Amino acid sequence: MASTAKVDSENKAVFGAGFLFSPAAEEAIFTPENFSDEQIEFQRTAIEFAHQEVLPQSENIEIKKPGVMSELMKKAAEIGLFTVEVPEEFGGLDIDKTTAMIISEALAINGSFAVTYGAHTGIGTLPIVYYGTQEQKARYLPKLATGEVLAAYALSEPNSGSDALAAKTTAVLSEDGKHYVLNGTKQWITNAAWADLITVFAQVDGEKFSAFLVETNTDGVTIGREERKMGIRGSSTCPVILEDAKIPIENLLGEVGRGHKIAFNILNIGRWKLGISSMGGAKNALALGAKYANERKQFKKPIGSFGLIRQKLARSATLIFAGESMAYRTAGLIDGMASQASKEDPGYGQKAIEAVEEFTVEASILKVFGSEVLGYVADEMLQIYGGNGFVEDYPLERIYRDARINRIFEGTNEINRLIIPATLFKRVLQGRVPLMQVVGNILGELQGTSDLPERGEGPLANEIWATELTKRAVLYAASYAAQKYMEDLKNKQRLLGDIADCITDLYGMDSSVCRAQQMVEAAGGVKAEQAVAMAQLYCFEARADIFQRLRRVAMIMAEGQELDDLYDNLAKLDKRYRVDYTTLQDQVAEYILDQEGYQI
Ligand SMILES: Cc1cc2nc3c(=O)[nH]c(=O)nc-3n(C[C@H](O)[C@H](O)[C@H](O)COP(=O)(O)OP(=O)(O)OC[C@H]3O[C@@H](n4cnc5c(N)ncnc54)[C@H](O)[C@@H]3O)c2cc1C
Repeated sequence: MASTAKVDSENKAVFGAGFLFSPAAEEAIFTPENFSDEQIEFQRTAIEFAHQEVLPQSENIEIKKPGVMSELMKKAAEIGLFTVEVPEEFGGLDIDKTTAMIISEALAINGSFAVTYGAHTGIGTLPIVYYGTQEQKARYLPKLATGEVLAAYALSEPNSGSDALAAKTTAVLSEDGKHYVLNGTKQWITNAAWADLITVFAQVDGEKFSAFLVETNTDGVTIGREERKMGIRGSSTCPVILEDAKIPIENLLGEVGRGHKIAFNILNIGRWKLGISSMGGAKNALALGAKYANERKQFKKPIGSFGLIRQKLARSATLIFAGESMAYRTAGLIDGMASQASKEDPGYGQKAIEAVEEFTVEASILKVFGSEVLGYVADEMLQIYGGNGFVEDYPLERIYRDARINRIFEGTNEINRLIIPATLFKRVLQGRVPLMQVVGNILGELQGTSDLPERGEGPLANEIWATELTKRAVLYAASYAAQKYMEDLKNKQRLLGDIADCITDLYGMDSSVCRAQQMVEAAGGVKAEQAVAMAQLYCFEARADIFQRLRRVAMIMAEGQELDDLYDNLAKLDKRYRVDYTTLQDQVAEYILDQEGYQI
């Protein structure tokens, strides 16, 4: 087992990407069914706020009607929505990541508001929570928690987006050693127009990437004009220009040359929040699509009675179920690991951020999967609206445009796809994940010296069996690639992209099956029935997609006899089985139509 692994309350090893190495549906995972009373209360508050305060202002938000966004942010602060991740001694509630995710999901009802809220409470506030000195925390956090100060995060520049560490903004220590002088231009900065405080990344001595807390009323700090955007038009996105801006040395955040840790760990948190807020947006779109499908009649029937419309509803719900299951499972893992340290321990912040870093693979999975599912659901629900989907009088037009940014910011989906296998392979080399040992066992099974797992019993027997075999196939192909290309693997982007998608879908299979099984065992009932149907549908599609990608990976890696051998081994793990596809889809679609939304 992984040498640096932490353990859970049952003394089992817990580590990032651990789902790849543990048997399918054997370990309990955290799911929305496990929310505590306090978490449910926060969910209720956030949903009420989203529906009663944010939603009625959608049109005003969209046209940036003066005062509307600031008023909403003020109200959100008043009901405590800015406090969840701020330590108690600085005016926060310091609850847990699960609660932060629950709130992000609820507020996704409006993309512009969600991004504004997310930038302030996430990438704006968290750099100080995790990396600030006591003085910096005392100076800024109480005001960030009440909304008296609004925050932003400035990493990107005109010539460095994905390649963020190539930033050109400079920071030079003044001769008297009292301040740093910052020069450069940051681009695409969310909340720039209304931020009072921005975490700005700059190179000290031209090469030491570092972070600074920049107050926007400092001389030499100018906010450029608003970008004219395709979506999230009610949010603020502007350049930030720094011209000889003198930043006191007390406002250096963390250490000189360690800014990359701040930049990437804060983005990591943003990624799983983006994953779950995408599920919130997708649920909202699905509810609108279901309602419309009930009301709109063509050929004398509600369009929701047609198979191709029901397919869109069922597929959307199934993908949301998988995304939600992965997201809250990850939240539970991070909270579980962070809770092993006491909040009184001075090293608590460091341990909490280590827990975030441990689940880097999962963060990128949630970001890619969430943003792409939201894109799919927004597109399909717009299609259900027909011509009405294409005009501004109906909500899907805005939802469709707002969804698109999620694939671009917080690291593009290309960059996040590369992070998934890169992180995994790095940890293999560090001895932190047991890939080679596990693959040794898989090779034994493929050569017949030990047995492959058999199909078990129960409503999810096929899916658990398929998940087990598919895990083996993905690990086998991934380790084959690692051994074949070694150092050069990082240059095989198409192959890495396919492996990333396989790992992502596998997490979806594992999490859907595990959650559905837990729901059956816990309470049963109609929700559990839908969960089982969605897990079956998800696994059916995902398994087929994964094997198709693995055959492509094999083809990239080999030819002739070597390719035949790879295909033969994959075929031993590619066991087909039947699902009652039409019946299951109808069952899920019927439920979504009845509930007019995703009520699992
Ligand atoms: C509305 C909005 C809000 C934003 N908010 C913020 C913010 O608050 N703070 C902030 O710092 N930034 C913010 N950004 C910037 C955002 O994070 C960047 O746009 C994003 O990281 C991509 O950088 P780029 O636009 O320079 O694209 P590029 O890096 O130039 O990428 C262009 C294309 O090339 C691909 N690509 C790049 N490198 C590779 C590679 N190695 N392999 C394969 N493909 C690659 C990318 O995936 C992309 O498809 C925001 C952007 C927008 C549009």
